Amino acid sequence: DLAPGAETLEQCIGVLQSVFGYEAFRGPQAQIVSHVSDGGDALVLMPTGGGKSLCYQVPAIVRERAGHGVAVVVSPLIALMHDQVGALTEAGVSAAYLNSSLSLDDAQRIEQQLRRGELTLLYVAPERLLTPRCQAMLESLHAQGRLSLFAIDEAHCVSQWGHDFRPEYRELAVLPERFAGVPRIALTATADALTRADIVERLQLQDARTFVSSFDRPNIRYMLVEKKDATGQLLRFIRDEHMGAQGQHDAGVVYCQSRRRVEEVAEMLQQAGLKALPYHAGLDAAVRQQHQDRFLREEGLIMVATIAFGMGIDKPDVRFVAHLDMPKNIEGYYQETGRAGRDGEPANAWMAYGLQDVVNQRRMIDDSPAPDEFKQVLRGKLDALLALAEASDCRRVRLLRYFGEDSQPCGNCDNCLNPPELFDATEPARKLLSCIYRVQQASGHGYGAGHIMDILRGKSTEKVLQNGHETLSTFGIGADWSETQWRALLRQLIAIEAVRVTDAPYNTLHLADGARAILKGEAGVRLRIQAERAPSRSRSARA
Ligand code: ADP
Ligand code: ZN
Repeated sequence: DLAPGAETLEQCIGVLQSVFGYEAFRGPQAQIVSHVSDGGDALVLMPTGGGKSLCYQVPAIVRERAGHGVAVVVSPLIALMHDQVGALTEAGVSAAYLNSSLSLDDAQRIEQQLRRGELTLLYVAPERLLTPRCQAMLESLHAQGRLSLFAIDEAHCVSQWGHDFRPEYRELAVLPERFAGVPRIALTATADALTRADIVERLQLQDARTFVSSFDRPNIRYMLVEKKDATGQLLRFIRDEHMGAQGQHDAGVVYCQSRRRVEEVAEMLQQAGLKALPYHAGLDAAVRQQHQDRFLREEGLIMVATIAFGMGIDKPDVRFVAHLDMPKNIEGYYQETGRAGRDGEPANAWMAYGLQDVVNQRRMIDDSPAPDEFKQVLRGKLDALLALAEASDCRRVRLLRYFGEDSQPCGNCDNCLNPPELFDATEPARKLLSCIYRVQQASGHGYGAGHIMDILRGKSTEKVLQNGHETLSTFGIGADWSETQWRALLRQLIAIEAVRVTDAPYNTLHLADGARAILKGEAGVRLRIQAERAPSRSRSARA
């Protein structure tokens, strides 16, 4: 005889094979679909490409066949709804969507189908779901026991800690009260601990079972390099890694922070003979659509874009994702790099980053109207990304640890493949920390990185002379290092929380908790030796 749930699982496998034509469930899918088909609530954390859609589509079909009615799928992405409904219809499943792209006639036709019980899945945009008209319709179905399931896709949109907060998602908290007894499954590919807790609380999923898949994307090679001449570095990266014999190149996405930068970089790539197109929210909707279509359809196109591009775009053979500017946090970085290699073939995630990126992101946080407590969280997340960028050990181990997963060095990231040579930078670190401290003491407030470096390197700039900083004992004690070297050290010190960049006044450097141990000689600092320009080691012993 069958164990509890075994019969459900058999039905699910039947649907998987007969409707979707797949042989077996992947990873935790089997457990998830059984649990949800049996009426349980679930929170599903699964990376992009992991197969989230089947987690609610299979239970929707199983439950509809058992007479429970229609499953409602909440999704913020119109393009994705359209694709999925198309694919389901083709597979013989009765599905439809309600969103702002529909004419009134079409919407009414779908409402009719819904009332007649002809639909198995209904995709709805969150703002649509919450209209009185839609709520009334669902309440009447619920009263007849014909609401089988709520699936809440992209569930991180409910959290302001996530990277894509949508206020309408907050209102989904009414679902369990208004539609008591209807199982709910929330799904997301982004979930650090904070976002996860927020999803549980906001969507009232305290009693839901949580299913966590590994977030590893083994075919993606992570490479994070120090920014020098960013566009030149990008060009070399593409030429070295992604050019074919006949001068054609792989498809990829290049992310930039601003619209202006997107335009510049796209043009630069075009001038270098590459097929590149810009994409950002400032472009005409028609142009944007056209560029997106070309990216999906043509081979070997490079999309240069702001983060407005990519969500819900399923192009399996994107061979690289490059960041010319540092994202806001690890979730964003993971999400964006995750668009590479969805077909499982080798792909590169490449980023060039510099101190200026950290300063810019800081400023954006400082300037935002958010409450202080919130800004503090954002700063912490930024620092975590900086620490990843500054790391000299396995990138993947750190990335996965951020999502709560333990792993071993991967052998497929820049640091694993080319372990950076490190040298002892404790002495220079103490010089830098002392300089920050002395300046602060002498002036009663902190200064920005540029000024601190001028003092260290003994440059008598106007600002230095005006403030009498040439008389400080730390003036000129770092003349043997270039500014680039000092900046590399400074980033490392920020990453290990020995230095903090604060907003009072703007972007000034202050000593943080980690500084004490270094100054007291209780902790050391190790820096990577830069390939092109190794820092002078005259004053610091090799480790
Ligand atoms: P996600 O939404 O998590 O990014 P999708 O649901 O779009 O992922 O699935 C990614 C791809 O994997 C799709 O092409 C899907 O058809 C395929 N897929 C998912 N589950 C399975 C399975 N059990 N067997 C074979 N292919 C699967
Ligand atoms: Zn590694």
